[in-house]
Amino acid sequence: MTTLDPVRWLREFAALIDANAAALTELDSAIGDADHGSNMRRGTAAVVAALDESAPAETLKQAGMTLIRSVGGASGPLYGTFFLRFAAAVGAGELDAAVFAKGFRAGLDGVVARGKAEPGDKTMFDALAPAATALDESLAAGTDLPAALTAALAAAEAGRDATIPLQARKGRAAFLGERSIGHQDPGATSSVLLVRAARQALA
Ligand code: ADP
Ligand code: MG
Ligand code: MG
Repeated sequence: MTTLDPVRWLREFAALIDANAAALTELDSAIGDADHGSNMRRGTAAVVAALDESAPAETLKQAGMTLIRSVGGASGPLYGTFFLRFAAAVGAGELDAAVFAKGFRAGLDGVVARGKAEPGDKTMFDALAPAATALDESLAAGTDLPAALTAALAAAEAGRDATIPLQARKGRAAFLGERSIGHQDPGATSSVLLVRAARQALA
């Protein structure tokens, strides 16, 4: 049975953030304060620097704490909480399809508990939530982890793209009102990279 190594996941996430940092900041310059790429790059680089040989749940917990400490901005506590809740749901196990789906759902619930985002608020929730649903559906259908992550990635990308016509109701972009319409949400964009990193980490 395929399992995901969280160290590989976090390394891939950091690499994708690094490669896309300028694009993320560009998106945030349109509807925010032009720091999402630099925030996330600082945070994920700190996560990689702190990686050690811990068990999966401990690795993910450390990542969450490091993101909360080092990202700054709205996205730090939100991604940090995602990983802390994910870690708590993993227990002593490896990240197989069932554990990954359960962890991802717990992480999403943590993002909502912290940020109170609802569907269509034009946030990272709009990419993460469809991915969580795709993971749950894949699990129910008996799909293996690679195929589940491929489905989750497609769902996250569709959710990210669907943020473009939305008017932001959470975060800095909400201050723009109607002027936030027509722009892709930076956090939904980095959330796609989180899912893509998991898929790539299996390869
Ligand atoms: P800041 O806005 O503080 O500069 P970032 O630029 O790093 O922080 O992150 C902005 C992203 O955070 C947004 O694009 C959005 O996806 C996400 N975000 C902001 N507020 C919330 C919230 N309440 N719930 C979920 N996501 C949020
Ligand atoms: Mg910002
Ligand atoms: Mg900021």
